[in-house]
Amino acid sequence: MEKVALMDFSYEELCAFVVEELGESKFRADQIGQWLYRGAEIEEMKNLSKDLRAKLSDRCIVGGVKIVKTLKSQHDDTQKFLFELRDGELIEGVLMGYHHGHTLCMSTQVGCRMGCAFCASTLDGLVRNLTAGEMLSQIVAVNKELGGGRHVDNIVLMGSGEPFDNYDQVVSMLRRLNEKNSVGIGLRNVSLSTCGLIPGIDRFKKEGLPVTLCLSLHAPNDQIRNKIMPVSCAYNIKDTIAAFARYIDETGRRGIIEYSLISGVNDSVECAAELSRLLRGLRVHVNVIALNPVKERDLNAPTAARVQAFLKELENRHISATRRRLMGEDIEGACGQLRHKTKQEQNA
Ligand code: SAH
Repeated sequence: MEKVALMDFSYEELCAFVVEELGESKFRADQIGQWLYRGAEIEEMKNLSKDLRAKLSDRCIVGGVKIVKTLKSQHDDTQKFLFELRDGELIEGVLMGYHHGHTLCMSTQVGCRMGCAFCASTLDGLVRNLTAGEMLSQIVAVNKELGGGRHVDNIVLMGSGEPFDNYDQVVSMLRRLNEKNSVGIGLRNVSLSTCGLIPGIDRFKKEGLPVTLCLSLHAPNDQIRNKIMPVSCAYNIKDTIAAFARYIDETGRRGIIEYSLISGVNDSVECAAELSRLLRGLRVHVNVIALNPVKERDLNAPTAARVQAFLKELENRHISATRRRLMGEDIEGACGQLRHKTKQEQNA
């Protein structure tokens, strides 16, 4: 019989499993849940009888991820983690220490199939989706690593993967962030970033989950966007912005537009002016960042002066925009630098 991954159960499902399948009381399900979200292995669940632990080991796995490598930035309070999944696949995550707490940038897929020209996560294509349990496990593992009562306060779904390409597991993970015994992260402390899968945006708006939606736009028109984001060929910019606007309207949340500046591609003052026209009247904030270099890609960041000029043009046109702080660049932990790694590369 295939073992079940305990972390993949919601609270209700865990209770049902413990009561109906294992013939134990609901109280035991709570105890197990508390251990799971502390990152314990079955043999460490000391307040369960030996018998029950043996039964669990027989039928279940914890189903989480393990931190196998940690890199600390020399310049800022950023750490990059390499997580190993149960099938040996590796994913990366980044923890940023801000004054308002710890923010974990986490992955939703192993690899990605969106094919954006500037992003390292998509170089090997999509390997597989992560389960809700594997996503929650990234938070649990980091909490355990932080120790001393410190824990992840905010999450951003901006690691490898396209969240709406793994829709059901992502939504199930989001619903479980705040259930009993879980990691206790409010949905207002969650940002979900999408490259613009319109059906996903429209469906997500109906879930009633108050997360901040971020749209990776990176261009003011289809002509430029087609060159760097294949998704743009399926969904044009006008329809994408309209879907984003519907999300903002119906949820009452402010949206975030992500715009990574690539030298000579999307960084001119004319692009900034065109972007302002596109976003006029929308309740959005634009996060501008200079491209983070990815060695396999022949794309460069603009000069600081060009970044400033781009921001100034947005400001002059009354578009709320800031340059996002660059963090973790020295450990390849900045946006778009997280990649799928193989075992050999892990040791390199
Ligand atoms: N698939 C989602 C989640 C990825 S989030 C999405 O596309 O939004 C990571 C963010 O970093 C996205 O805005 C992405 O477009 C951006 N990004 C990717 N590669 C980058 C790079 N090399 N430099 C700067 N930003 C990059």
